[in-house]
Amino acid sequence: MKIPGERQVRLALACQNEKFQRKPVQLYFSAGPTSMQRIQPVKRVIETRPVRGMRDRFGVDALKYNHVCAIAQSVANLYGFQPVATPILEHASVFERTLGEDSDIIGKELYTFKDKSGDQLTMRPEGTAGAARALLSNNLTNSLPVKWYYHGPMFRHERPQKGRFRQFEQIGVEYFGSRNVSSDVETIAMAATFLKKLSLYDKVELNLNTLGDSESRANYRSVLTEFLTSHKQSLSEDSVRRLSTNPLRVLDSKHPDDAPIVAQSPRLSEYLSAPSRDRFEQLLENLTSLGIAYTLNSNLVRGLDYYQDTVFEFIYRGANNDDTDSLGAQQGTVLAGGRYDGLVKLMSGGKTDVPGIGWAAGIDRLTMLLENKGFEHSQRPVVIITITEDDTDFNRRLDQRALQLAHKFRTELLIPTVIQHREEGAQSQRVDKLLTKVLKTLPGARYVVFLGRQELEDSSDLINYRDLTQRTQATVPLSSIASSFKSHSQDSA
Ligand code: ATP
Ligand code: MG
Repeated sequence: MKIPGERQVRLALACQNEKFQRKPVQLYFSAGPTSMQRIQPVKRVIETRPVRGMRDRFGVDALKYNHVCAIAQSVANLYGFQPVATPILEHASVFERTLGEDSDIIGKELYTFKDKSGDQLTMRPEGTAGAARALLSNNLTNSLPVKWYYHGPMFRHERPQKGRFRQFEQIGVEYFGSRNVSSDVETIAMAATFLKKLSLYDKVELNLNTLGDSESRANYRSVLTEFLTSHKQSLSEDSVRRLSTNPLRVLDSKHPDDAPIVAQSPRLSEYLSAPSRDRFEQLLENLTSLGIAYTLNSNLVRGLDYYQDTVFEFIYRGANNDDTDSLGAQQGTVLAGGRYDGLVKLMSGGKTDVPGIGWAAGIDRLTMLLENKGFEHSQRPVVIITITEDDTDFNRRLDQRALQLAHKFRTELLIPTVIQHREEGAQSQRVDKLLTKVLKTLPGARYVVFLGRQELEDSSDLINYRDLTQRTQATVPLSSIASSFKSHSQDSA
């Protein structure tokens, strides 16, 4: 395509219809041969698809999302965790200096840009680093322990696929200020309770490992590096690179070339220091005493640099424990976490040392595993239908009556109410057609109240309604409608 000269641009702008001139304009020029070069009419295009890897949430998905968040909130309350919200944008250094240069997130997934003030900002890819930053910014290191939970969007520039998006939602939990094993146990137990309340616990498996303290990891790192170096020629390109930056991460590789070597590699558990081993044993004992089953997975290392000691993932195993088909094998982890004692120290430049443990659950993956049943009909409003006529004045009074009635239902009687209008120009639409529309747009609707000429002119305040579940019809005084609806709801409950 030939780049247009200044004259062509001016010409193109002159072609613009006057009324659009102040709006932003996207210019397209023809790429025809020079002699034929003509400026094509300018198209204005608004991209109506969402950004790749990002989605709109509505309908059943939105109801499931709210359900997951409500369950998280109630479980957080049971375990004494308080809500927190940190900004989506953070200074890039919050993540770049903490997550590990060689992590997938830092290596390739960050949404980082310079804003208009020239600040280098990052759209948060996870919640822990921002929470640790908030702990420091708000001087909360003097009032430990701090137990937080949050939910919200995270951003990672990954290849979109089932259960993997570029904007996705997480519920996160952070417990700052305790190194006691009980804090690990409580944090994992809280995750188990959360999944139980979502009826997903039977479909997941808790994978558990310890990365030990820094002494254990240093011992192991040298043994592992030696072993992996001797198999360097068979390792994947990424793993060869990680040999010098973070050899532990090779254990986490999903590359098929690496699998046989990883399977034979020395085990971290054999190089644990005595205190690390003791700590891990205490954790296992306590989980067992609470009836929380686990599978030891010595290859579980987690993707980020700040983890130590306890690391864990709840992995979806499919309804029949034989596949991960509803999420795809690579997207099976629904909730993951670990201990990050060095994070706050690193972030504060060594000034403040606060231990911590936490987890994050992928809400998108959880909602995909929840059945739709029970969500489609979760809203059960009363629908007021106005039976309009070919009479503008009458219709206006009818609308007003519907508004007043809905107002009374909502504010005095606390009945969820929706007003449904007849479509413009569909005055003759039959009542059964109107009902079909109600059932289509509001499938959970329980009662329909009709408002027409009779109701408007009748001063007796009688309400005529239809029970969509029982398929019955009744007329009751407005004063008793709430109790009438209530007794019906109890009948069918
Ligand atoms: P994965 O191995 O699937 O890439 P991760 O180790 O990068 O996961 P974490 O940083 O531990 O993921 O995030 C916690 C949880 O958030 C994951 O277990 C998953 O449920 C969810 N999650 C992570 N990345 C995505 C994504 N791109 N889209 C949807 N959910 C995600
Ligand atoms: Mg990832």
